[in-house]
Amino acid sequence: MMRRRQLGTFLTILYWSFYLPFLTTKHLYRLTGRLIGTAALRNRDSLHCAACGKEVSLVGRWECGWCGRVFDGFAFARCPGRECGAVPPFIECQGCGLTIDNPSLF
Ligand SMILES: [Zn+2]
Ligand SMILES: [Zn+2]
Repeated sequence: MMRRRQLGTFLTILYWSFYLPFLTTKHLYRLTGRLIGTAALRNRDSLHCAACGKEVSLVGRWECGWCGRVFDGFAFARCPGRECGAVPPFIECQGCGLTIDNPSLF
């Protein structure tokens, strides 16, 4: 019985010592991506559409996809609804309708 338990612990440690570096790398990668995305967003009020080349304005009137609240401001800001607070994952190009991902949600 004792041996089995030790083997179980050993396997758990083995599993985590393999898995943890991957997990840490993945989280660091995402965190870095988000920081870069957020930093890139801070300095601009429009995004470039890859399809039609138009500048898509990030400032204007938006409707929250979760609760339907309409608000003026920054496209990727948190929804001002007290019960909502959703962050839009993407916006649509006003020119051609292409989906442009939120760079801070990497
Ligand atoms: Zn909302
Ligand atoms: Zn476009």
